[in-house]
Amino acid sequence: MIAAAEYEYRIPNNENDSMPNSLHFSRRTLLAGMAAAAGASTVKSMAAEREQSGSAVQSGRRDVIVVGAGVFGAWTAWHLLKSGRKVLLLDAWGPAHARASSGGESRISRTVYGRDEIYTRFAWESLDEWRWLSGRSGLPIFHPTGVVFFFGRREPYVEQSIEVHRRLGIPLDVLDRPALAKRFPQIAWDGVELGFFERYRGILMARRAVQTLVQEFVAAGGEYRQAAIVPPKPDASFDSIRTAAGESLSASRFVFACGPWLPKVFPQILGQRIFPTRQEVFFFAPEAGDNRFLPAHLPGWADFNDGDIYYGMPDLEGRGVKVAHDLHGAPIDPDVGDRTPSPQAIADVREFMKRRMPALANRPLVESRVCQYENSSNGDFLLDRHPQWENVVLVGAGSGHGFKHGPAVGRYVAALVNGTNKTIEPRFSLQSKAAQQRRDVH
Ligand SMILES: Cc1cc2nc3c(=O)[nH]c(=O)nc-3n(C[C@H](O)[C@H](O)[C@H](O)COP(=O)(O)OP(=O)(O)OC[C@H]3O[C@@H](n4cnc5c(N)ncnc54)[C@H](O)[C@@H]3O)c2cc1C
Repeated sequence: MIAAAEYEYRIPNNENDSMPNSLHFSRRTLLAGMAAAAGASTVKSMAAEREQSGSAVQSGRRDVIVVGAGVFGAWTAWHLLKSGRKVLLLDAWGPAHARASSGGESRISRTVYGRDEIYTRFAWESLDEWRWLSGRSGLPIFHPTGVVFFFGRREPYVEQSIEVHRRLGIPLDVLDRPALAKRFPQIAWDGVELGFFERYRGILMARRAVQTLVQEFVAAGGEYRQAAIVPPKPDASFDSIRTAAGESLSASRFVFACGPWLPKVFPQILGQRIFPTRQEVFFFAPEAGDNRFLPAHLPGWADFNDGDIYYGMPDLEGRGVKVAHDLHGAPIDPDVGDRTPSPQAIADVREFMKRRMPALANRPLVESRVCQYENSSNGDFLLDRHPQWENVVLVGAGSGHGFKHGPAVGRYVAALVNGTNKTIEPRFSLQSKAAQQRRDVH
């Protein structure tokens, strides 16, 4: 066990704290199977690579079609383009549209994952590219608010998170209750023993991020089209796909990053392995002049509560303070599922706020969304080849925590497609996806 003091970091004085070089640790410590996948991803090298790939895609036939322009498909298309491939990216309704899992307002980017080091790495490795994308956009995509996760007791998840961050050299502030109360007085800390403050992490503007990335992809020579792909028939070979309008589109390789629609596109192999669940999020307006909920004072946060997690975000860009219960909701069909918020869910988060953010408990609800998690059986991603078609890669099962990992997932999948990574991480394999839900990754 590591004592908090051994691994305690000074709370940063915000702006004056410079970014640690360890942000670039990823290039030294990539998983062996991913090493080949990892192109250098600093802002500078990205620009240089983009120039090279721009000239490489001018000629020749289409190499790869990526179906699905959510966060996973868009980053996959981007990394394939950077590697010199001629890429077509398709989406039935548009990048990060209203029903897509990536279509929400905001997503937390944290590295705390208990013992699940692979996600700590992915999240950390992705930060550089999120910052780069944020710099490309007129409005911020990454808000470096930090993230605070807090716990009723020093449970194994806490120890495991500390150990993983120590091992990887990623900063993690461990705060006891008095320190939390001093720094974040807008939260009621009853029953909390300790928390983590994750510097340099923060909040991603989800819809804006994906739409900006697709613009960048097109500007760099990628092709984007709005088209719905009909589920492929189990033919002997796979060299083209068909749109709902009857057009046949051919390429050498295909990526299906269809999020919660994957079970519909591949009903035989994924119908019982990806479970879309209905998730409700709410935004509450603080009182005029109550600045405690602005991003300068409130980071992204999650009340871990023995795995029954509530989470939220500050009042970003005037949308209101976001609060949601992370508990998996009822099954939902992403096409036709009812997206009207339920009175029960609103009552649930108001009850939570009474306990934790009493100043918000009776404030007006200004916005709500019903989205879906596309869960695997245990919360691990699906990043694997199709069992029948070697040239088809299946990408999805973000399981309610996928967004932040978009850049790393895209790099990993591009390497699979390019054949520079031939080894599937067992946790991402199709084989590991069971038909029974037993959530394990938080
Ligand atoms: C309420 C909520 C809160 C979340 N909070 C967080 C968070 O704080 N942090 C975090 O990291 N993650 C979070 N997530 C998870 C994250 O948003 C998802 O894991 C991620 O967005 C999934 O992206 P995707 O690209 O796999 O799927 P999607 O974004 O759904 O993209 C799939 C795309 O495929 C397209 N498509 C499907 N079928 C076809 C077809 N046949 N032809 C053409 N196109 C097709 C769809 O139109 C869609 O645009 C949250 C999710 C939800 C719902």
